[in-house]
Amino acid sequence: MKKRSVMLISVAVVIAAGLWAAQRPEPGPVTAIKAGRLIDPETGTAAANHVILVQGEKITGVGTDLNIPPGATVIDLSQMTVLPGLVDAHTHMGLTYKEQPENNYYYLTYVMDSTPLRAIQAASNGIQLLDSGFTVVRDVGNNALYVDAALRQAVEQGWLPGPTVIPSGPMIGSTGGQFWPTPEMYKQHNIMFPEYIDANSPDEIVRAVRENMLFGARTIKLCIDCKPWGYSVEDIELAIREAAKGGCKVEGHVQTAEGAQRAIDAGIFIIAHNSALTPEHHRQMAEKGIFLTGTDTPFTPYRGSERAFKQTVANLRDAWEKKVPLTFSTDMDYWNDRMKDPKTGEWLTRGELTINFLLTWKAAGIPSADVLRAMTTNGYKAADIITERGPIKAGFFADLIAVPGNPLDDIDALRDVRFVMKNGMVFKKDGIMTPAKFFHPGPVRMPNGRWTR
Ligand SMILES: [Zn+2]
Repeated sequence: MKKRSVMLISVAVVIAAGLWAAQRPEPGPVTAIKAGRLIDPETGTAAANHVILVQGEKITGVGTDLNIPPGATVIDLSQMTVLPGLVDAHTHMGLTYKEQPENNYYYLTYVMDSTPLRAIQAASNGIQLLDSGFTVVRDVGNNALYVDAALRQAVEQGWLPGPTVIPSGPMIGSTGGQFWPTPEMYKQHNIMFPEYIDANSPDEIVRAVRENMLFGARTIKLCIDCKPWGYSVEDIELAIREAAKGGCKVEGHVQTAEGAQRAIDAGIFIIAHNSALTPEHHRQMAEKGIFLTGTDTPFTPYRGSERAFKQTVANLRDAWEKKVPLTFSTDMDYWNDRMKDPKTGEWLTRGELTINFLLTWKAAGIPSADVLRAMTTNGYKAADIITERGPIKAGFFADLIAVPGNPLDDIDALRDVRFVMKNGMVFKKDGIMTPAKFFHPGPVRMPNGRWTR
């Protein structure tokens, strides 16, 4: 072999080794978590005195007879219940509509709050949600110019702490989306975008789905029936087929019984909002395994009415009785100055406002184990990440939380999250946020071993 080729091969080997190292970071030291009680939400059972070993971002072992390696950092949660992080399966991180000045009209929020401002709101909301134990959010539309996708990238690249974000990009709808713009705003100022993408014909639907996936979506959101002209079964099937090419599943916003039936007939993955669904829809969804993100708003001093709440509770109860795959979902994207803790007078965080949706689940009389399954296992399935996150088992990402009580006995135990680990890093300990290790001066993580959206 010539000297020159030997040198070239050596250079190639060095470069390849460098790339290999960049793609597979050093696993780092071991952390051993002593869990007094470890919940498996899938089965609704708890096991005593387990040790969870974590190395790098992943769980490497779980059991009662594991050897804790010398030099491991030990986290003692032996007086606590450990469980997977929680999932809000339908929210909008980059939208906060208010009573003042916009009278809860998010059409005006969109005009008044810029994309950069909404991106910062989303980043703050992510930290507040993590503080309450939500390690995954499906972020499905109304996010200005891809705030949701940017937040996903920022968290994945290691810029700041936040939940795993499953973004949809702008909601795809037929002419008008959820807005009723004036002709001049619609025709002369193209005001629909980026809050919605107008897609009417099959070609436009395909283009819209592809653009969202190109710009970082991990799920696709359709406005099924936001307008009387809505989407047909064939339109929805087309979107599902196109989304599948990019590894995305489809959620449909549904607000009429006819729209619900079209979404079910098309075999959609998720239906958003329970308010227009009938018992017959629930029966069909259970049969087809269609997930429900019901967005079950509780009646509180800061939101809702007694009458609306009664209906919400009855709808959730029926979906549960019919065995629809339920997720915990909120649409928690608004704010007013009554959002304070009545005892302390302190502002409720976005995480506390989110966990307060438990009020609806309790009013519907749904057993704690089923609520917990909706908040974890079903959420991970609806987010389509159950093969890598959720189960507390070797090989899965270490996204864990701990509470003093037992949520299988009393679901309100989840209101007191004292410990949060995200991607193997401690975010909260002894009830105090300790996020310093999550902040970096650059994109220190290379998700999936490559720099892509
Ligand atoms: Zn929504």
